Amino acid sequence: MSLTGPYDPNNIFARILRGETPAVTVWEDDHVLAFMDVFPQSEGHVLVISKTSRARNLLEVEPDVLTRLTAAVRRTARAVDRALSPDGLSVMQFNGEAGGQTVFHLHFHIIPRWADRGLKGHRDGPIAEPAVLRAQAARIAAALDPD
Ligand code: 5GP
Repeated sequence: MSLTGPYDPNNIFARILRGETPAVTVWEDDHVLAFMDVFPQSEGHVLVISKTSRARNLLEVEPDVLTRLTAAVRRTARAVDRALSPDGLSVMQFNGEAGGQTVFHLHFHIIPRWADRGLKGHRDGPIAEPAVLRAQAARIAAALDPD
């Protein structure tokens, strides 16, 4: 899928936002949702999306939505750091199929990194156990900065 084109209202993240597909929420407010990636590239891989925007990628996003998303990524990354104590954190964001994007609803990846552990491939890993994701999400949520 190219960088330009219509928003598909049936993409998997739109279905999660409508409650049609389950997801393990870390935290949410009226504007953003942070939830666990089901094919995590490392322990604690979180995705952050807008609840209101139909931007497919960074090029399309409204500036006020991007401001909220960036703040949400920072808040989530700080909680991931406190909860899981990684050696580093990769924040990733892909645009267009050729850019590595597979779900066409703008999103940011927060991927904890450990010096002695490799990173699983993008959409390569096995699907994670919901109970494991729920436990990680609870630890991260408990470490969030106040609003
Ligand atoms: P992209 O490739 O578009 O940057 O990232 C899409 C991400 O969504 C991938 O990391 C993939 O593992 C994740 N993903 C795909 N389907 C689902 C799903 O049904 N639930 C959740 N929580 N994540 C998904």
